[in-house]
Formats: sequence, C-alpha cells, structure tokens
Amino acid sequence: MLEKEAAPLISHAPGDIASLRATIQGRVTTSNDPDYNRLRSVWNGMIDRRPALIVSCASVSDVRTALAFARAHHLTVAVRGGGHSVAGFGTCDDGVVIDLSPLKAINVDPDARLVHAGGGVTWGELDAATQAHGLATPGGVFSRTGIAGLTLGGGYGWLRSSFGLACDNLMQAEVVLADGRVVIAGTGPEQDAELLWGLRGSGGNFGIVTQFTYKLHPVGRDVYFVFVVHDGEGEATERTLRFFRDFCDAAPAAVNPLAVCGIVPADPALFPVETHGRRYVILGALYAGSIDEGKRVLRPLVDMAEPLADFSGVMPYVDVQRLWDADYPDGMRYYWKSLNLIRLDDDVIRQIAGWACKQPSAKSTTDLWFVAGVSRRSAPETSAFYGRESAVLLGLEANWMDPAEDEPNIRWAREFTDAMQPYSDGSRYLNFAGLHEEGERMVSAAFGPAYERLVLLKRRYDPANVFHLNQNISPNGNTE
Ligand code: FAD
Repeated sequence: MLEKEAAPLISHAPGDIASLRATIQGRVTTSNDPDYNRLRSVWNGMIDRRPALIVSCASVSDVRTALAFARAHHLTVAVRGGGHSVAGFGTCDDGVVIDLSPLKAINVDPDARLVHAGGGVTWGELDAATQAHGLATPGGVFSRTGIAGLTLGGGYGWLRSSFGLACDNLMQAEVVLADGRVVIAGTGPEQDAELLWGLRGSGGNFGIVTQFTYKLHPVGRDVYFVFVVHDGEGEATERTLRFFRDFCDAAPAAVNPLAVCGIVPADPALFPVETHGRRYVILGALYAGSIDEGKRVLRPLVDMAEPLADFSGVMPYVDVQRLWDADYPDGMRYYWKSLNLIRLDDDVIRQIAGWACKQPSAKSTTDLWFVAGVSRRSAPETSAFYGRESAVLLGLEANWMDPAEDEPNIRWAREFTDAMQPYSDGSRYLNFAGLHEEGERMVSAAFGPAYERLVLLKRRYDPANVFHLNQNISPNGNTE
C-alpha cells in the first residue's frame, strides 16, 4: 500500500490554538470569532451544536494537523464535507470540526473519462466542471450537498439506473487515516482495494477523504427529462404509483425514475391556483440517451392522465440537478427516514398511499427511488453498499418550519417506517436515517452480509473509533 506521507503527526500536534493557527494554511475559528455562528451552522435547523474549534483545511497537511491536534487533546472529531448530513454529523459539541470546504480543486481528464475533486466540493461545482465536457458522474438530485457524504453513503440520483450509484463510480480516494498516514484507496498497484470497497457505501468510518476520483459518462449537456405533476387525491395516488411501477418494470436502463408524493404548494408562478393544496404524485425520469428516444420512451408518463402541471422537456443536465434546490433551504427542520422495500405489489402501494396522506406538514414528501438497471446489478464484491436487491428505496421526508411542530412530524416519519417494516428486510439507506437514534443495530442491518467485513476494516484503520460521528461501525462490532 502506498503511504504518501508516512510519519504519524500526533507527537507533533501544536500545543495550543495559537500555535495551531500558525501551523495551518487554512483557518481556525473559535467561539470568540465573529464568524463562529455562521461557520458552526449546518443545513438541518434541528441541529444546533457548539464545537470548540472549526478548522477549515486548505491542504492535506492541514487535515493531518487538525486531526493530530484533536487526538492529542482528546477532542471529538466531526468531519464536514458539504455540511448537508441530515443527521447533523458534520458538527459536534465541544470537539473539533474538520471542515473540508476550502478543498475545492477539480480536475477533469476528458480523455481518461475521470474527474479528481477535493473533499469539500459540492455536486453543483462538480457537475459544472464535468458538463463543460458534456460528461457527468452520478450524484444526487440536489446541487448543494457535498460529494463527500453523498458518495461515501451510497448516492441515489438521476443517473443511477444507467451508470450506478455515486459510490459505484468512485475509482480512487486519497484518505487521511486516524493515525495521520495518507493512503490511496483504489485498485491500482500499491493501492488499497479493500479500503476502496469500504468507502463505497459505508460513510466516513475509515478516514478523511481529501480527494475523490470518479468515472465519467457521456451524458451530454441537454437531456430529456420528465417531471410531471399528476393529481394524487383519493384513489389517484395508488393508481398513479401502480402505473409507474409497471412502467419502470419494463423500462430500459436509460430510464432513471423517481416518484414523489406530496402536496401542491401555493405558488401561482408554478401551479394553477385551483391545484394549490391538492395531493400530487410527481413522476420524474431522466433519459440517459438520445433526446428523440427519450421523448418517445417517456411519453406515457405524461399521457397517463391530465396532469396538474408538466415541467417536462429538453433541459441542461445542470438544471435538472438544481431543480429542487429552492425547496430545501438551510435552517429549516428536517427528519428523514428510509426503508428498502423488497416488493412493491398493490398491497404495499396501498399502504404507502395511506400513510403518505397523513403527513402533518405540507412541505413533507414520500419518495420512491426505484432500484433498477446498473444500481441493481453492481456486484456486492465491488462495494460495501447494500440494498440493491430491493424493489424500491422508500424515502420519508418530514420537512417543516416551526420547532413546536417537531413531535408530530417526527412521529409521522417513524410510524410510517414502522408500518412498512413487514415489506422490508430491515435495511435502509443510512444517508436518510433520522438522527441515527437507532444506533449500531440499525447500521449493522443496513449493511447486511457486508457488516462483518466492515468491522474488520474498521479495526484495521480506526481501532479507537476516532471517526464515530457517522453511520458508525464500532470496531467491537457491537449491535446492542
Ligand atoms: P456532511 O454533513 O459534510 O457529512 C456527512 C457525513 O459524511 C458525515 O458523517 C461526515 O463525517 C462524512 N464526511 C463528510 N466529508 C467527508 C470526507 N471528506 N471524508 C470522510 N468523511 C466525510 N442523498 C442521495 O443519495 N441522493 C440525493 O438525491 C440526496 N439529496 C439530498 C438533498 C438534500 C437537501 C440533503 C440535505 C441531503 C440529500 N441526500 C441525498 C443525502 C446526502 O447524501 C447526505 O446528507 C450526505 O451526507 C451529504 O453529504 P455532505 O458532504 O454534504 O455532508
């Protein structure tokens, strides 16, 4: 295995904050700093933590120094990429936030069809760089999340059926380990293939990734995209979901589908006034192929009924990726759960429709991520990610404004999840896992047969569990 810088730094950790400041290229922020409140805040308004230090790292050396400082002073370590962890893992109370947001370098190699990107890059930044060449790697469906947390956790997006999850396209990673060594996870000579397998889906358990290398695909700058808002009142949600399931079952891998159930917002610029407050089912699909073929193949999704609104058409891929940005502002309250459903028969659809319409907040949604194409076929030996045999990943997004409404919104997501358990193997997507209050038992179920192998990897690279603010795999393998 290649170790780019061999000497552990712990014995060289700067003794105090002044010497830490003098040592690093980036920035050290404490509660005395006027920027402290801005820098400590993360996307989810439910999370309000006060770290002792925020170290914004401008280089790999900064990351090693910050980590050594935290370890030498026995401080909790939180690692922050894009700061969009739903559970709030990118911050902590009293510890050190290792903030990678200054690591923004992006290098596209169009000939090799690869992109190298720093650990603080967001999907919007990465897509802008790769789309300059008409290329893309699968991300999510929102442009402001970090590439880091999304990729390490799996990564469901608009290209997953055609090209796999984000983690499937991770070819190489530069990683700062808990002891300060820097290694390259990859399948090349002198690279650590087992670490790459673990990084593909099991979160930030093994180290801090300072650079990600992804495979790129010729997506083109414009794509054909269906985003049609059908009525979901009464029986219509069930009917529409049954139609979409049958459509997806027969669809080629060029079709990348997502269904979302919710309530039409009172926005006259987007929706006719008479539709405001009605239940909807959005049928969404990106066609990764020719525009004409996309129009033909996806047409039935629009024609199945008279829509409430239809935003389908040819559009730049980067606009597809930004479509939902305005709906998820920083500081709102969010509690998201998920469950892998092993089947999606009419009975399961009836249950989903029944629970979806009980949402206490008009901003909440029930999302059906169909697991199909390449995301389904990728071999378990190549990644730690589990859940590919499911019919659908059910995502329950409780989104609301008022802290006084926490209880009913959280209860809806929890009770909905519990009600769907009989249709699941108990696994879920750990990037949508509430506030991780279910702990290690949930984590072990989420990895299925890969869990024991992950515990061994954790023992090898992080036996002291320095990186525990994540979908944590205990080095002891505890599930209690
Ligand atoms: P952060 O809060 O910075 O970090 C998240 C986790 O990753 C933490 O445990 C952190 O310690 C670890 N981490 C961060 N950076 C590094 C690093 N460089 N090295 C090692 N560990 C690191 N998911 C999907 O799959 N598809 C979607 O379409 C999607 N849409 C979303 C939309 C919104 C509005 C939000 C908030 C989330 C969405 N997610 C989606 C979930 C998303 O994948 C996770 O929230 C993810 O953790 C965000 O990554 P981040 O880097 O922004 O988070």
